[in-house]
Amino acid sequence: MKFSQMPYQRTDAGAAAARLRDLTARMAAARTAAEAFAAHDEYYALTGGIETNRTLANIRHDIDSADAFYADEQKFYDGFGPVLHNLQVEYGRQLLGSPFRPELEKKLGAPAFKNIELALRANDERLIPLRQAENELASRYQDLLAGARIEFEGGVYNLSLLRPFLTHADRATRQKAWAALSGYLRSVTDEIDDIYDQMVKNRTEQARILGFENFVPLGYLRMQRNCYGQREVEAFRAQVKQHFVPFATRLHEQRRRRLGVDKLCHYDNDVYFAAGNPAPTGTPDEIMAAGRAMYAELSPETREFMDFMCENELFDVLSRPNKHQGGYMTYLPNYKSPFIFANFNGTNGDVDVITHECGHAFQGYLLRGDPYREHADIGMETAEIHSMSMEYFTYGWMDRFFGPGRDTYLQMHLEDSVTFVPYGTMVDEFQHIVYSQPGLTPAERKQAWAELERQYRPHLHFAGDDFLAGAIWQRQHHIFTDPFYYIDYCLAGVVAMQFKVRMDKDRSAAWADYLKLCRLSAKDYYLNVLAAAGLESPFADGCLERLVKELEPKTKQ
Ligand code: ZN
Repeated sequence: MKFSQMPYQRTDAGAAAARLRDLTARMAAARTAAEAFAAHDEYYALTGGIETNRTLANIRHDIDSADAFYADEQKFYDGFGPVLHNLQVEYGRQLLGSPFRPELEKKLGAPAFKNIELALRANDERLIPLRQAENELASRYQDLLAGARIEFEGGVYNLSLLRPFLTHADRATRQKAWAALSGYLRSVTDEIDDIYDQMVKNRTEQARILGFENFVPLGYLRMQRNCYGQREVEAFRAQVKQHFVPFATRLHEQRRRRLGVDKLCHYDNDVYFAAGNPAPTGTPDEIMAAGRAMYAELSPETREFMDFMCENELFDVLSRPNKHQGGYMTYLPNYKSPFIFANFNGTNGDVDVITHECGHAFQGYLLRGDPYREHADIGMETAEIHSMSMEYFTYGWMDRFFGPGRDTYLQMHLEDSVTFVPYGTMVDEFQHIVYSQPGLTPAERKQAWAELERQYRPHLHFAGDDFLAGAIWQRQHHIFTDPFYYIDYCLAGVVAMQFKVRMDKDRSAAWADYLKLCRLSAKDYYLNVLAAAGLESPFADGCLERLVKELEPKTKQ
């Protein structure tokens, strides 16, 4: 069904809760495996319907935050979401304790049950008011940034539309654009500090109710880390510091020489060539058409996927006033449809939507026929492999988007992918600091960030903007809305780079393993899925050192 025709109906909270309680009782009372499966099928139908309506409201609110109807609906789900979550966890408790668990586990997969255990440890009815308040804070942050009106050289821009000036080929122009951005952030920093401070305290209180010392272990449970923990992530950060920071520093030095500047300032950090970053040559319609043609050629599976997406209007990619920032892929269970939300702004980021977000959507599409929804319930460290690997699998088509700028684009993409890893890891370490010391003041948090900048991005000069040196993270949505998500990009990034190395040697074998990885999704644990697809765990000793050795010749000029 086309997105515009999908009917929306607010979930009847009372009726849904009653039915969920009823299904929970039925799961508990099931006398045969068949009865348990029958209850579970009804559970899919009920929660799939709720999820579809919630996602529709969410997308339509994101598309136009000034639309009062969907703003109201969003508020409703902000409040109902935690209640629903709690009921689902209670249902999960019965599933976990079912005498038919062996039969269920055979179909649903072992991770599904482990995930229920994690959810039970992360959940308590007493958290509901706090979760609701947390949702409100997240919405407040997003609405604040969506409403940014930044004056620059006679125009007024939101954050997304300012981006082309932030990466402008003319250094003086981008310096001024960054000054405008810095001025905007300064104007809202007190409010952002206040929102974040409330979030940190709220999350810490949730953790303490559950008996944790601070939010870090609860954050891990919420990220559904079902086969690794803080120790592994810490070891990964150490590998990044030891091998990726020096590698990235070499690439930055190469870039500095290319730009012909004496030092790299914050306003140079996203600029790769003196003549400016390669930008797509076409209009948004042409980019979409090139994407469709590309996926038609890439494989039969991607052809069918992209036709489905286009025919059913499952993209909203144009930037407009009152549209929320950012980009994401989400899923509408009742229509078995992925949906992609983005903000085109004329930069290479538009093409990332066609590669990265479509990678996510492709995995969602591949699993649409799977009768067991738990198989799609992957962690983000897995999901981001699907998307980031697709960025590399589509390298061969980049002339369609960038014309003669193809080679510079590919160089920029690879350098950017590498240098992102230290940045993303810094975001992760920052959050560990923030949540393990919840008493830090906003000023101390900014100090902590500035200190991490020196460790992870030693090449970067803030050119006298001391405010930005400690506060640049305040425009990074994940830090506010999805704590501890960010490291997943780094974990997945280095796995996707393994695919890059492998496809350069044997493309069809790499693609076959990519399809295998997507189809496995959550049927098995993340680390097992990696092994099945012939990939090395990013936690394995020496993984990053070996990867740097392989990538170094590909990035040298
Ligand atoms: Zn992604």
